[in-house]
Amino acid sequence: MDFDLTEEQKMFQTMVRDFVAQEIAPVAAQWEDEGNFPHDVWKKMADLGICGVALPSEYGGGGGGKVLLTIATEEIARGSAGLATAYLVSCGVAMHNIVKHGSEEQKRNYIPRCCQGEIAYFALTEAVGGSDVASMQTKYTQERDCYVLNGTKLFVTNGAESQFGLVYATKNPALGYRGVSCFIVEKGAPCFSVGRSERKTGQHCGSTTELVFDNCKIPLSNRVGPERKGFKMALEALDASRSIVGAQALGIAEAAYDAAAAYATERKAFGKSLSQMQAVQWMIADMATDIDAARLLVYKAAWLVDQGRPFAKEAAVAKLFAAEASHRVCHRAVQIFGGYGYTKDFAVERYARDQRVTEIYEGTSEMQRWTIARHELGAK
Ligand SMILES: Cc1cc2nc3c(=O)[nH]c(=O)nc-3n(C[C@H](O)[C@H](O)[C@H](O)COP(=O)(O)OP(=O)(O)OC[C@H]3O[C@@H](n4cnc5c(N)ncnc54)[C@H](O)[C@@H]3O)c2cc1C
Repeated sequence: MDFDLTEEQKMFQTMVRDFVAQEIAPVAAQWEDEGNFPHDVWKKMADLGICGVALPSEYGGGGGGKVLLTIATEEIARGSAGLATAYLVSCGVAMHNIVKHGSEEQKRNYIPRCCQGEIAYFALTEAVGGSDVASMQTKYTQERDCYVLNGTKLFVTNGAESQFGLVYATKNPALGYRGVSCFIVEKGAPCFSVGRSERKTGQHCGSTTELVFDNCKIPLSNRVGPERKGFKMALEALDASRSIVGAQALGIAEAAYDAAAAYATERKAFGKSLSQMQAVQWMIADMATDIDAARLLVYKAAWLVDQGRPFAKEAAVAKLFAAEASHRVCHRAVQIFGGYGYTKDFAVERYARDQRVTEIYEGTSEMQRWTIARHELGAK
């Protein structure tokens, strides 16, 4: 067994870690306060090869695997969870089906654009339900030379910043999961607009919006993969992205832990530092244990993907555990900071807010448990 990263992976980790320490961590709180997406930093990430690291090299990507995407997401999340969400959606789940099922023309067009810093979205969720994907109501019809989309997608990460993205729509809602197809829709497509922006608890530097399709016409060549196979394709993309959300949760937990451990050493009460009190030591020990276990699960799932081995259950386990471990770690970090932990003067309150949604998006913790139980029990 080998628990070490390869030399190439370590070099990439050092590069991203240094970049985050210089360009992201010092300004992340300001981005959150102002609610601004850092386009300049995103461009630098693209120039450094971070955006394309896991995309195929024949289309301008780095040709790296899931472990490299995991490293990048974990490190970015240590600085800004909001930027990490934009990253894992644009460079991960949104590109998945273009890479796996896209036509040659689609790959030649969209993969280089992502590598060069264009931003992508992944629009699946609707008002009828995010967990129950097959109940979607956004419809498509085919005309002689185009598809026409009608409906509204909700909670779309990067909705305001994206240049293009993937939309899942059904030929007929009565067909359930068998009716769904996948399409690329560019920002300037006719009768396509960005709707309401969600007022979120955290992660304010990136947008989460509605996308509205009102007789939106797109070329026939914009369908991705076979018609009416979109449900399976969407679930495949989410399966492959789950451990990456786990990496994001891990990065947030690490940032919270580092802050809490430093504070526990500096802060004094009753004539000694907090770190000399057993109750605080136990919190630190539990936090370190959660982080270690989350890291092992997240990297194991990514490694399985890179080995070409089955990973769906392990990715669900990694996301479930890392998200809930991150919750516990952030909760304890606020506790160690006492009253200061409940103020905006210290980052731990932001970590706790930013972490919460890792238990919700890309499949709630309940959906992960369902997936894991199905694998364990062999039930449908
Ligand atoms: C900040 C943010 C960003 C997001 N980004 C995107 C994005 O980029 N693209 C996108 O398509 N979506 C995105 N989403 C949507 C997200 O994936 C959904 O919110 C999530 O899948 C849950 O769906 P829902 O909100 O409709 O909750 P529901 O599906 O209504 O679930 C509500 C509750 O019921 C539980 N539940 C539902 N069904 C079951 C069941 N069968 N068994 C047990 N419990 C169940 C759920 O676990 C949850 O606790 C985002 C959401 C947020 C908040």
